This record gives sequence, structure tokens and C-alpha cells, in this order.
Amino acid sequence: MTTTSTPTRILIVDDNAAIHADFRKVLATSRIDRLADDEQFLFGEPQACADSLEFEIDSAFQGEEGLEKVRQANSSGRPYTIAFVDVRMPPGWDGIETISRIWAEYPRLQVVICTAYSDYSWHEICERLTHRQNLLILKKPFDAIEVMQLAYALTEKARLADEVAQHVECLEQRIQERTLELQRSNHELQSQVVQREQAESHLHHLAFHDTLTGLANRQSLQNNLQASIEMARANSTEKFAVMFVDVDRFKSINDGLGHEVGDELLRAFSSRIEKSLRLDDLMNSAGTDALAGRLGGDEFVIILKRLRDSFDAVRVAERLLRILDRPYQIQGQTIHISPSIGVVNFDPSYQLASEMLRDADTAMYEAKLKGGDSFVVFEPSMQTAIQVRLSMEHDLRQAIITNQFWLAYQPIWSVQDLSLQGVEALIRWNHPEKGMIRPDQFIPIAEQTKLIVPIGEWVLRESCTQFGKWKRAGLAQTPKYISVNLSRVQLMQPGLVDVVDAILKESQMLGPELQFEVTESMIMEDPRQACAVISQLKSLGIRLAIDDFGTGHSSLACLHEFQLDVLKIDRSFVKQMNEGTTHPALLNAIVRLAENLGLECVAEGVEERDQLDQLGVMGCHRVQGYLLGKPKSNADFVSEYLMAPCLSQSTASEPTNQAISSASMVFDASTTPSASLHR
Ligand code: C2E
Ligand code: CA
Ligand code: CA
Repeated sequence: MTTTSTPTRILIVDDNAAIHADFRKVLATSRIDRLADDEQFLFGEPQACADSLEFEIDSAFQGEEGLEKVRQANSSGRPYTIAFVDVRMPPGWDGIETISRIWAEYPRLQVVICTAYSDYSWHEICERLTHRQNLLILKKPFDAIEVMQLAYALTEKARLADEVAQHVECLEQRIQERTLELQRSNHELQSQVVQREQAESHLHHLAFHDTLTGLANRQSLQNNLQASIEMARANSTEKFAVMFVDVDRFKSINDGLGHEVGDELLRAFSSRIEKSLRLDDLMNSAGTDALAGRLGGDEFVIILKRLRDSFDAVRVAERLLRILDRPYQIQGQTIHISPSIGVVNFDPSYQLASEMLRDADTAMYEAKLKGGDSFVVFEPSMQTAIQVRLSMEHDLRQAIITNQFWLAYQPIWSVQDLSLQGVEALIRWNHPEKGMIRPDQFIPIAEQTKLIVPIGEWVLRESCTQFGKWKRAGLAQTPKYISVNLSRVQLMQPGLVDVVDAILKESQMLGPELQFEVTESMIMEDPRQACAVISQLKSLGIRLAIDDFGTGHSSLACLHEFQLDVLKIDRSFVKQMNEGTTHPALLNAIVRLAENLGLECVAEGVEERDQLDQLGVMGCHRVQGYLLGKPKSNADFVSEYLMAPCLSQSTASEPTNQAISSASMVFDASTTPSASLHR
């Protein structure tokens, strides 16, 4: 038994005042020393001192009053621990009624029902009362010891019950705390899971999308294309195509207008691709599905799936070309760009995505070679052309290193007196295995690979060196100038003017002794830049000729602006001179144009005497062509033209060499165009 300092509150409910007195007497004298003996007798060992234990006793004489007291005690925070309730309490509620009412409100109250033999049976009591674990029966007339024992035992029981209740409450509180804690961590976990999922989906997006345009990236395109190939290989009815789209001259936009504009342009370009595919009638009606992506830089790829036939891709490409061609408004400026598109249709020989991409790229490259702003459908022969180009590129590099190039010189004559005026330097390539390769075959590749820059510089230096040597050799004839062909890449190459200046000085040449030949299309591609370079070249005193005139896109206004000196009429006009009536008229018009612009006019490709005569009548100043001299090696050129007197002075009876003799056969004194035909 443990000690407690607060007294146990006991309520006696009995209609008999004497009973109340008895209870008080018994419980008020409840000292442990009186009980100790009994307890030792009952429990077999001496008990701890419980002197402090006291009972606070209240009385109620009717059931209703008892209930009221229980209520008050509870609301005051000091509830009763035990109630001794009499069974019979006329005129009010009997004990059973009272107990059941009290328990209805306070079920934890320990109740001792005080009854005589003749009252309710245990069975009846059980039937009427519910909380029987809190019920004891004290038979009347009761014994003081019994009352004491009940009071102590029930006090202890209540204390233990309280302790248990507190313990339970404490446990419940801890459980609640733990539950809250768990709920919190659960919530945190859930939000971490959500964050993780978001991060994962973001990573997934990054892994398969291009950051600049939001289109599929290289990886995603490759995966998708590989899957399409496998599907089409498994199902022969499945048709699809790949388009390789590249922006023409994007680099010059990026360099010229800055990367920010370049990026924005790529975004605008890609969104047009997407929109065009989405709104394509053909694709929508045929149920065609498309995936657009960016490989990197200005290269885009479109996979067109579920096509009906191989022409579908062509139709899509045609439409795409139209849409991508329209001007772009970027940061307040209007920019014109065009795409080059390569198309490849699937066939079962393809196994890998890289193979289809390679061929689409090849077709795109062909579109670029055509001048861009077009599309080309891949054909296997293109692959061989590529191989040829690649091997030629390799050979060109070798040719530069091992000096396989040499120059041929072709004379340019005055129509009036057939005197030697100038000379055009023309490159020749003597390939160690393939023999002579024509400039038409290798110059375009040298331009594409930019190898034309070192090659062109060599041509210029060699021409000028040679011209300087001729000048100093004291020959019978010396051309007034040497004409060198300049490629577009060279014209746009920074530092060209410095190189030219240095070479002129090295070879002790005067500016007007050098002539550059450029084509109209070369200038028209970037007139501003071309104009800037040309005016710098002009400031060195160099002559400028427009080559192959009439074959490119002419802009007559530009002809005037470009400070030209010479207009070279393309040989196709000369060739067609005798065919029909329009060609001579055209030729005549060009000669007139040159005259009006104050330009020297040179006709190229003069092969026949009749052509020369007619050009003379038209008033063309100079001629160049097989009739008067083919391009020759330096040695031949020197011996045939420079060491000999002027053609006009030679006669058929005095051939100095074969060239002059052949020329003089045409140009003997009797057949030389009369002076009256010339200016
Ligand atoms: P081009 O500038 O129009 O040069 C004239 C071409 O016509 C030369 O061909 C020349 O041999 C040829 N030709 C001259 N007279 C006649 C004729 O009476 N009949 C015919 N049928 N042809 C004649 P070539 O030497 O094969 O050069 C072809 C082109 O290659 C040149 O055309 C020029 O555009 C380019 N080229 C030649 N050398 C160089 C060079 O050093 N640098 C650059 N960038 N291009 C060059
Ligand atoms: Ca030329
Ligand atoms: Ca020409």
C-alpha cells in the first residue's frame, strides 16, 4: 500500500442518518495502527505507514441528492472515489436507480451497494447495472473492519486506476505525437517524392530536348529514327522519310548580326518548322506523324512517319521551303534566310539511324551545291560523288604541298591592231596518277573546302612573279597586264588586300599591271562586303574585270557602282553568234553597254575568224580565244608570243612558230579586218 497526501472523498447515500454516523465513526478513526494487525493478518506482512491517509466523508440522504453531490464534486475538480449507496431510500430513487443515474454520468465512481439479505439478488443487480467492475456489495448489518477494508482497497484501486489512466493518457499522447511526427515526415517524404519526380521529368526533358528551341535533340532524334527503321523493316507497308534542313549562310548572319540574333533566328526558324508540320494539310489528311529536332548549330532533322508514298516527303519539303523562305522579323530587323533541304526515303537497305542521316545530309549538301534555297531527294549516286569530292579534297591538299600546280597563259589581243594587250593566268593541275585535271573539276571543290585560299594566293604570286620576269627580260613583246581569276571565297577572305599589296611589291609590279576577274554572282552574293573589298583593291590601282558577263544575275546599277574597268563577254554569247538572229543582237547590246559605261570590252572564246570579224564590226575592243592563242605553258607562251613580233606585223610567209603561223594563216594582210571596222 502506498501513501497518499490527498484524502479520499467518500459519499454516503442513505436515508438513514444513523448509518451516516456509523460510517463516519468507522472511517474517521481509520488509523493504520488499528488496521495494521488486521492487514498483517490478512496479507501476511507488515505494511508501510499510512498515517496520512484520511477520508473526507459527505452525506446524501436521497438518490437525487447523491447524484447532485457527485456532479458538484466532479465540477470542483475533486471527485468522489467511493460512494456507499443504500438500496432502499424511500421516498426517492432506490439504490440501483441512483447508481445507474450516477454511472450514466460518471462511470468511474467506485460504488459499494449496501443491502440486506432480502434486497435484490446479485443476478438482478447485474441485470440492471452496467459497470459491474466498479461495484461491490456490502451486506447489512456491516462490519467496521469490512467497511475499512473496502475503503482502503477501493482507494488503492482508484489510485491504481488513476495511475493506469494517466499512463494510458501519457501513452496516447505519445502515440498522438508520434502519429503527428509520422504524418509530418510522411508529408515531407511525399513532397520530396513530388520534387524528385519533377526533377526527374525535368532531367528527362533536358536529356531529350534541345535547350535553345525545345525541339527533340540529337539523342532523341537518333532513338526515334532507329525505332522507325526497325518498325519499317518489320512491316514492309510502313513508309517514312527523313529530312535534313540546314540554314543557308547562317554563319555570316551569326557573325554579322551577333549570336543573340542568331539564336533568336534559330528559334523562329524551328517554330516555323513545327507550325508548318502541324498545319500541313497533307500530313493531317494522311494521318502522317512527324518529329522535328535540332542536331545542333543550324542543322535540323524531321522524321516523317506513316507516309502514303515517296512523293509525300517531296510535297512536305516543297511547302516547308515556301514557309521557311519568308522574311523573319528579329529584334526590329527584317532578315532573309533560306534553307537547303535533303530528303531521304526509307528503304530496307537502311539498318542504322546514322546511315539515313548521312544520306539526308548528303542530299542537303547537294541542295547547297545547287546554290541553296532548294531541296534534293537523295540518290545513291550522290554518295559516289561525295567520295570523289572527298578524295579530290585529299589530293588537292597533297597538290599544294608537292607543287603539282602550274599556270597556263592565254593572250588577250586588241581587235583593232591585233597587238598583245594582256594575258590571263589559268591554273593547271598535273595529278601524278590521274594526269591533267580541268579547273572546272577542282576549283568548285577548292572553293567549298576553302583550299582556294592558299591555291589562289599561289596563283597570284606565281602570276605576278612571272609578269615581273617578263617585264625585266627585255622581250620583243610584253603584255600590259596580267589577269588573274579571283574566287568568291578569296574575295571574302579577310586580309586579301594586304596579301595583294605585298605580292605587288615583291614582284615590282604597278597596280594597273594586275587585273582581277570576278563574276557578277560573286559580287551579288554580298554586294556590301564585295564593294568594300573592291574599293580597297581599286585604291592599289588594280584593274577589275567582270568575268563571264551575261551568265549571272546582272544588276546594271551595280555594274556602275563597282568601279569596273573591263567587261568580259562570256564565250557562250560568242559561240552562239552565228546561230539565229537574237544572239548577235544580244552581243551587240552588251558591247554597247560596255561602251556606254566606259568599260573595256573583251570577248572570250573566239574560235573562228567570222566571230572576230563581227566583233570588230560591233566595236568590241579585245578578244581572247583559241583562234588567236590557246592557254600555254610559260615556256611556250614566251617563245610563241613574247619573243615574236606582234601578230598584226607577222605574215604567212614569216612564221616564227606554230601559233603565229596558224594565227597568221587567218590573219594575213589580205584577210585582216579592215581598219574601218575598228574604232
Ligand atoms: P574563265 O575565267 O572563263 O577562263 C577561260 C576559260 O575558257 C579557260 O578554261 C580557257 O582555257 C577557256 N578558253 C579560252 N579560249 C577558249 C576558246 O576559244 N574556246 C573554248 N572552248 N574555251 C576557251 P580553263 O582554263 O579550263 O578554266 C576554266 C575556268 O576555271 C575559268 O574560266 C575560271 O573560271 C576557272 N579558273 C581557271 N584558273 C583559275 C584560277 O587560277 N583561279 C580561279 N579562281 N579560277 C580559275
Ligand atoms: Ca577568267
Ligand atoms: Ca570567262
